[in-house]
Amino acid sequence: MSEVSARVAPVAVPARGTSPRTALGVWLDRGGVRGFGLAAPIPGYSPDSSDWAAALRRWLRDASNLVAVVDDRRAESRVALDELRALTAAGACAVDVAATDLRARERATSGSALLGASGPRDVAVNLLVDAGTTPSEALVRVRDAWAVGVRAYKLKLGHDVGATATLAAALRAEFGAELELRVDANARFSDGDEAARALSVFAAVDVAFCEQPVRPGALDTVPRAFPVPVALDESMAVEPDRALALEHPALVAVVLKPTTVGGPHRAVELGDVAAARGLGVVVTHAFEGAVGVAVGAAVAVALRAPPLACGLADAARVSRLAPTPCAPGLVVSPPPMGELEAP
Ligand SMILES: [Mg+2]
Repeated sequence: MSEVSARVAPVAVPARGTSPRTALGVWLDRGGVRGFGLAAPIPGYSPDSSDWAAALRRWLRDASNLVAVVDDRRAESRVALDELRALTAAGACAVDVAATDLRARERATSGSALLGASGPRDVAVNLLVDAGTTPSEALVRVRDAWAVGVRAYKLKLGHDVGATATLAAALRAEFGAELELRVDANARFSDGDEAARALSVFAAVDVAFCEQPVRPGALDTVPRAFPVPVALDESMAVEPDRALALEHPALVAVVLKPTTVGGPHRAVELGDVAAARGLGVVVTHAFEGAVGVAVGAAVAVALRAPPLACGLADAARVSRLAPTPCAPGLVVSPPPMGELEAP
């Protein structure tokens, strides 16, 4: 069996907000077959601490870790990845993706097959309407996407909750009951009572759910009778929150980002647990570009139960369906390698 080697290099990823964003590409190589993964935490959002890159590099320097993660014996691979995940979720995601990509290329199969997919699956996508989009811009975006078959839309809750509710009502009036509306609060309310008061305006427009009304750690303040169904996103990256979260009676869905939960294998596990409890599952990316979309699509295809419409629309080319990954590998078009360094 050939040795496994690792290389890393900074990779440019789309900015998110105003904070500078650091991302590391991870290349794993065995006998000339190379797998690629990307570690790209979102500052202020991901669970990773500020020294995540150093932790990832240290972990990659241990040859036994590399052998374990590309090994077929999943138990060893799991122990090694769990250790890394405790240090950095984004780093664990990069390594899991790179190892899965490498193994899939060695076997000339798809990454989704190695994640457990039994075959291709069409995955419906939802379109994000960002806070700050004017109502007329939003209507144009929705009409364009509607024309190609997108039926689920997520409105980011801006500072003016009333304006978002007015837009939601306008969309409901134009597109009728077939439109699926979601709202994302991004943990902006300090407690559940404040969130319930603010979000009650959405009850009348029949939203499918509001994502993350309160910050992780404040879920116990969310009233059992909440005005709208709840989905959790940020909380899914926080271990103590997850168990509590899954029990909440207002919860109807979870949102999973491989980068923040620690990799595609972990995302599939969490999604299957949530689905077994009757919850809907949405898979999405962490704005890492094409790599994030490819990994998210592989997870969406590999879940035991079909997911809800997923946040995997390519903003530049909205299509009704996420790409069904079937080419060998997990990351179909890795970014250019540039100057690779030893970790
Ligand atoms: Mg969200």
